[in-house]
Parts: sequence; C-alpha cells; structure tokens
Amino acid sequence: MVTAAALPGPADVIELARDLIRLDTSRANETAAAELLSDYLGSHGVSCELVARDPARANLVAHLAGGDGDSLAFVGHTDVVPASPEGWTYPPFEAVVDPDGFLHGRGALDMLGELAARAVAMAAIARSGTELSGDLWLLAVADEEDGSADVGMRWLLETRPDVRPTYSVNEGGGERHVDRAGRTVALLDIGEKGSFPVRITARGEAGHASMPTLGRNAVTMLARLVQRLGDHTPEPSAPSPLVDLAPSSPILAHRARALAGSTLAPTRLRGSAAINVMPARASVDVDCRVLPGTTGAQLLAELDAVLGDDLPWDVEALTPWVPGSSSPPGGRFVEAVRRSLVECGDPVDVLPTLITGFSDSVHLRQVGTHAYGFTILRHTSAERVLTGLHNVDESIHTADLLEASRWHQSLARHLLVPA
Ligand SMILES: [Zn+2]
Repeated sequence: MVTAAALPGPADVIELARDLIRLDTSRANETAAAELLSDYLGSHGVSCELVARDPARANLVAHLAGGDGDSLAFVGHTDVVPASPEGWTYPPFEAVVDPDGFLHGRGALDMLGELAARAVAMAAIARSGTELSGDLWLLAVADEEDGSADVGMRWLLETRPDVRPTYSVNEGGGERHVDRAGRTVALLDIGEKGSFPVRITARGEAGHASMPTLGRNAVTMLARLVQRLGDHTPEPSAPSPLVDLAPSSPILAHRARALAGSTLAPTRLRGSAAINVMPARASVDVDCRVLPGTTGAQLLAELDAVLGDDLPWDVEALTPWVPGSSSPPGGRFVEAVRRSLVECGDPVDVLPTLITGFSDSVHLRQVGTHAYGFTILRHTSAERVLTGLHNVDESIHTADLLEASRWHQSLARHLLVPA
C-alpha cells in the first residue's frame, strides 16, 4: 500500500465517531465531516471525491473498484439534528465516553457512530488488498434530517448516474427485542412508509359570533372531522410479527400499530382570523403515512370512509407526496446479513420490517438499489435507542461501534468476495 498510515483498527472507530460528533454538523456545515472521512479513507488508499451542490454541504463519494458483479454501498448521513446542552448529562458535542463505555453526543446513534464504523470497515477492506467481485462504495451525504435544501442523497444520485449500487446498507435497523418465546431478534429495515400530507377544510357559512345559530360555523364542523381522524386506527391486514415482540417494548407496540396500515395524524389547525367572526372555512393539516404500494387515490378513498359525507369538507394535497418503498425481505443481501452475524459470533434472529419514518434509502430504491437499514446494537438497549433519537442523552455503547465495524467487513466479504 502506498500510504504509511497505521492499519485501521478498533481505536479508529471510536476516535472517528468522536471527531465527527465534535464537528456539530447541525448547522448546514457537513463539508467538515465529508473532509474528515475523506482524509481518513484516502490515507488507506480509498479513492474519495467531495461532490457538492452547496460548498458548505458536500457529500463524500468513496469508492473501491471491484469486478462487474453486484456492488454494495455503505451509506450514512453526516448531518445531525440540533442540540442545546440543557438536559444532557454530558455536553452534546464533546463526545464523552462514560465509565460504562457509552459514547454520548448528538449523532452517537443517528448516525455518526454508525458512519464511523462503516468508514473503518471500508478502510480495513482497502488495506487488506482483497480482490472484490463488485464495487464497494461509501456514500456519506448531507441534508438527510431536513432534506429541504436538496443537496444530499436525492441530488447526488441524480448528479452521479455512475453511482448505482446493487445493494446498500444504511440507518434504520438493528435494534433488538425479545419475543414471547424469549428469543432475541434484531430488526432489519427493508422499507419505509410513504408520506402524503393533506389539508382537510370544513365548509360552512360565516356569521357574527354574537349569534352562533346564524350561519354555519366551520370550526365546530371541523372539530367533529378532527375527532374522526383522531379515532381512526389502521386495521391490520395480516398479523404483524412485531406484535409478538411488543411485550418487550411499549414503543414497539405503537410501531406495530402504525405499520398495520395508513395513519392519519391531525396536526396543524386553522380557524377564524378574528375572535368575533365564525369562519366559513376551517382546516386541519393531516400527516398521513401510508404503506408501500398505497396510492394517492387509495388514501383519498380512506379519507372519504373515515370522514363520511354528512359534513361538507374538501381535501387538498400538501406537497411533496413521497410514496412508500421497500426492498425484498429475502435474497442475497438478507442472507449475507444473517451469515455475517453468525460469522461475528452473534447469531441473532433477523426480522425484516418497515420503519415508520423516512431515510435516504428511499432515494436509493428509486434508482434501483435494494436498500436496507441495519447495524449492530447488541450492547445498546432498544429503549436507549428509541429514547435517545433526536433527544437528550443520545448515546451508544462503544462495543457496538467496534462490532459494527467488524460486521460490515464481514457483510462486504459475503457480497463482494467470490466464495
Ligand atoms: Zn438518521
């Protein structure tokens, strides 16, 4: 190898994760993280390129060339949601490792720790000199959490038609639960629900608030419509394996229900502009999340059924609508996940499932990639994961970062090194 850098090792994973957290990339300033990763991977012989639509918000495309076979991308986002120090046990951007081995800080879980593990795995594969049957990529992208600037994954894939991995592994999975039989299972994210935000407007007649029986107050009509939305819960079309896991986690029970079908969550309200005017129109914005395969027309039919036709109301789409998407629950990638867990001495059962939120895997599926979310969260409880995300005291056990780095190397070998 051309570089004199020491071989990639466990210490690199923790140091890289801590360095990334300390950059505080919550301020539309992800270029610093892309440069840090580029310097590290470059020193181990990986070819690295910063691809930026906004110079402050560069994406890293790191590439190890292989043969013409299936390719794999390690994926991560470099931005984090903001954090102010109030309420944190350790300051959010100091990356403290506590006496029990937990790394604390914004991005420890979501997802700078995971990204550091993937980068070190790639460096180790580069330094091993192993011949690969297909390309290995690492895509470290900006602007995932907000996404509105469109300088991250969606833009990158559009700009770079050469980046078309067969498989990708990103955030979204790995948390572990215990089922009714006492068996531990790790969740593998195979897809995401879609997001179809709408505005429902009740149509009444304006009137003076001093004579409420004159006119037809849209606010009281809207209140009844909102109640119907609030009472709606999706009907499970098939028993969800997640329900089996629910006893081990109250949060998981809510997730299982959210994955049973379309959810319709009323959030923003609009009524009269004046205290003494009963408005002709009152509206509620509804955060609708739909399963992969559900169309806009199907959602509108569901809204018809939930809201009924006894009150006059209109619906309009709030943009953008993002359909749900999913990748196969079995096949080469999923098999490689299982085999690499066994190889790493961690033969946990893997349960393919959907996540209720959003990740950049959606954009990868749109260009034909089989996109998944998984990492090692063996020493960090599901409770800690679910309460730490976008919250105070976000933390991950350092042993998980080290195991994740080894597991990603094993995964890449199962997919990219001919047996
Ligand atoms: Zn994330």
